[in-house]
Amino acid sequence: MSTENVEFELTEEQRLVRSTAKDFAEKEVLPLARKVDHEHYFPKELIPKLSALGFLGVFVPEEFGGAELDFVSYSVIVEELARVCASTSVIVSAHNSLCIWPILNHASDEQKKRYLPKLASGESLGCFALSEPSTGSDAAAQTCMSKKEGDTWVINGVKNWVTNGPEADVCILFTMENPEEKHKGINAFIVDLKTTKGVSIGKKEDKLGICGSPTSSITFDNVELSNDQLLGTPGLGFKIAMSTLDGGRIGIASQAVGIARAALEDSLQYARERKAFGKPIGQHQSIQNHLADMSCSIDAARLMALSASRRKDAKLPYTRAAAQAKLFASEASVQCALKGIQIHGGYGYVREFNVERYLRDAKITEIYEGTSEIQRLVIASQLLKE
Ligand SMILES: Cc1cc2nc3c(=O)[nH]c(=O)nc-3n(C[C@H](O)[C@H](O)[C@H](O)COP(=O)(O)OP(=O)(O)OC[C@H]3O[C@@H](n4cnc5c(N)ncnc54)[C@H](O)[C@@H]3O)c2cc1C
Repeated sequence: MSTENVEFELTEEQRLVRSTAKDFAEKEVLPLARKVDHEHYFPKELIPKLSALGFLGVFVPEEFGGAELDFVSYSVIVEELARVCASTSVIVSAHNSLCIWPILNHASDEQKKRYLPKLASGESLGCFALSEPSTGSDAAAQTCMSKKEGDTWVINGVKNWVTNGPEADVCILFTMENPEEKHKGINAFIVDLKTTKGVSIGKKEDKLGICGSPTSSITFDNVELSNDQLLGTPGLGFKIAMSTLDGGRIGIASQAVGIARAALEDSLQYARERKAFGKPIGQHQSIQNHLADMSCSIDAARLMALSASRRKDAKLPYTRAAAQAKLFASEASVQCALKGIQIHGGYGYVREFNVERYLRDAKITEIYEGTSEIQRLVIASQLLKE
């Protein structure tokens, strides 16, 4: 399917990024996609290939070994990966936007030198641990505690639903230091998961979709961190988390667009081939209506994601644009996947075809990095402030 409707919006470099990502996705990621889903397989063989293209250090400056691309390029890469394998796209997006982005924006020069080259080269995989078993949307109600004892921070508590958790080396961790100060009492740390004593990774969650994206809890039992593992200053954690999620949400919007596009592409092919009542089902107006609605919502969602990316690149406020893009694209993605199943009839309901996977993969985009209900709260509160 053509992406022409938005190509004119992209610079020459961004168009090159799109064709490179599309090519890579089709040649290297697509052949693994069914195994990734059916066997809940983490596609580790893709890590060196993704890093060779710069996709594991999309915004990392060249001096640290990254691709130093803009956020529009990042959106384009995530969309192309999600079109063939949503699990791979979220492994990449959690690493780039949830782990690398806060390091780029809040870490000291020493911390950047220590972490960015390994993250950009794929030697280290990143993750982000904000949610807990008893709190997700209400991120200020953190119970994982950090207590300063002399020069050491002592961490105790459990984080939940950590994307990349079972495979990750570097974690952006959020903890509560002063509960009475609520969101102002939260700290952020950079933690080396595999070498820090007292860190244990929970079992891999058995999920509905994005089955190859590994998710787990992480427990911190009297974990001792030095002061140079604090990210930013004490009390800045909540701001770091919220600003990181603003960018992350654009990536989720692009992920949702990629999944929806896959649903439309498969449906178009099926509508041309499958015959009913003596003609291809694509000749029946009801099927045409589904296809037309899918195409409109995909193009609208993509434009919203790219527009939010462009605002971010231009250093304009983008909290509302990002929340709107995520809300619209994730709901459009679920609707497109449902329509895709409907167009495939009975074949849409079995695993022989990929459309049932698109629905399972699309659903998570309405939940993580802020549910649709939370996006509506963010959008309305921004509108009332503006
Ligand atoms: C596969 C997966 C991967 C994830 N990856 C990560 C990750 O890498 N890092 C991380 O930190 N977290 C991650 N999460 C957690 C995710 O961000 C949370 O699940 C999500 O924010 C919702 O939090 P919750 O599950 O605690 O639901 P709750 O906050 O308990 O919400 C339950 C319901 O109540 C609604 N609700 C809550 N508050 C309000 C309100 N004020 N107004 C209206 N409705 C409300 C919600 O929208 C939802 O429908 C992941 C989750 C999943 C499932």
